[in-house]
Amino acid sequence: MQKKWAKMTKYIFITGGVLSSVGKGITTASIGLLLKARGYSVTAIKIDPYINVDAGTMNPYMHGEIFVTEDGGETDLDLGHYERFLNINLSKKNNITTGQIYLSVIEKERRGEYLGQTVQVIPHITNEIKSRIREVAKESGADIVLVEIGGTVGDIEGLPFLEAIRQMRLEEGFDNTLFVHVALVPILSTTGEQKTKPVQHSVQELRRIGIQPDIIVARCPKPLEEEARNKIALYANLPPEAVFSNYDVETIYEVPLILEKQGLASYILRRLKLEDRKPDLDAWIDFVNKIKTASKPVRIAMVGKYTKLRDSYLSIIEATRHAAAELRLKPIFNWYEATLIERGKLDPARIVEENDAVIVLPGFGSRGAEGKIAAIKVARENNIPLLGICFGMQLAVIEFARNVLGLEDANSTEIDPSTPHPVIDLIESQRYITMLGGTMRLGAYPIKLEKGTLVYSLYKREIVYERHRHRYEVNPRYVDKLEAAGMKVSGYSLDGRVEFIELKGAKFFVGSQPHPEYKSRPMNPAPLFLGLLKAASA
Ligand code: GLN
Repeated sequence: MQKKWAKMTKYIFITGGVLSSVGKGITTASIGLLLKARGYSVTAIKIDPYINVDAGTMNPYMHGEIFVTEDGGETDLDLGHYERFLNINLSKKNNITTGQIYLSVIEKERRGEYLGQTVQVIPHITNEIKSRIREVAKESGADIVLVEIGGTVGDIEGLPFLEAIRQMRLEEGFDNTLFVHVALVPILSTTGEQKTKPVQHSVQELRRIGIQPDIIVARCPKPLEEEARNKIALYANLPPEAVFSNYDVETIYEVPLILEKQGLASYILRRLKLEDRKPDLDAWIDFVNKIKTASKPVRIAMVGKYTKLRDSYLSIIEATRHAAAELRLKPIFNWYEATLIERGKLDPARIVEENDAVIVLPGFGSRGAEGKIAAIKVARENNIPLLGICFGMQLAVIEFARNVLGLEDANSTEIDPSTPHPVIDLIESQRYITMLGGTMRLGAYPIKLEKGTLVYSLYKREIVYERHRHRYEVNPRYVDKLEAAGMKVSGYSLDGRVEFIELKGAKFFVGSQPHPEYKSRPMNPAPLFLGLLKAASA
């Protein structure tokens, strides 16, 4: 039992109903923002019921972007939303997966920590889940911990997590726990009617497990009509005031504001027996207004190979939006599939004709690499602002080595292991690694910027920390040659790895080995994105 005077952590559990991608992540992040704006300290956990230990081994088509945390976790993209809305850095511990839970329970079993017992989903798996949630709560010291359960209520793999949070209600107490259920309210195209039956069913499913939601957030293209709200309330066994509507808005950053208008945060605080305070949302409102009123378009070519699922590049899109808002620009993203360029089905010249800037996106493997190189070539030759991120940077170095240095067939050993000119090569310490999960160079490391470079002028600092996720790097043997031909290394890691490159004399041609997009925040855009868009709109 906690001592009476000890501060109790408050837990808000967010579940989803009807279908995935319903907006739980944004709802969670928005609730966090509204509470933080009232002076409460908040952290957020994402639970993913898949068996992968982390998202790092998944294809972006399966999962969307892999979000890399400061401490090198390869996590779910919702952590990106939390970091951006809450303006905090999270740890890899803030993403809990079934894989992690089972791995540690099985390891404990092998060590004999459960000697004599039958190890079972209840209580061993559920205890492990609860202890991980509480560990994050304790380490963060947050007043309020948001816990988003991935997937949809009713999924078999989500059951142990729902059981764990059901138990937490009993153990932490009614006043210290809150269940928010986010579910879809579709509109019938024939009648325009808002249909509440799917929500009713998902609430029933939740109750079958023993969870009575305290709040329903209805995701609907339009604001919820009174009739639909009353119906949901009745079937969910809640007062109508506990039903909120998360409707389609121009920008995701507006979601906290529409929820605030409906009194969601005040309702939550009342229910958790916490004092309500006047929220400080001025800066956020200002940021949203900047996005909504920006009228000068800036066209950005996004060159990559997962262009069909834009979520694969979510943080890059958001980072571009943050920079655009700062500059009062309206970003227009034009997507170019690198494999089509490679197969001759898309003329890379179109990229320079149709855009003001180019972002060469990160990636792995050989498919599409030649297409990206062709895009980089036209951008460089036409002096159109270009930012190459990670793989994009590596390919920019290859393009330069081939077409400026004249090193025919220069390549990365990731693409062509027998290239005569391995300008990009495996990091030495990676040579002995055989396991693929969580073994890249991951997370934030310090980078020392070279004075007098464009990159330095953008960061305005000598040492910067950016997050990494790669196995290959610029081969140090080629640095002198590259520099003699007009490429400049603008930043090195403290142990001498190439981290940033730029082209002397170009309007803006920058390559970044780390991913600057992960640390971009509303009202505090990543310097390289700001630099790119400034150059593009000049
Ligand atoms: N495939 C490259 C590497 O491993 C780049 C990775 C990336 O773009 N994230 O180094």
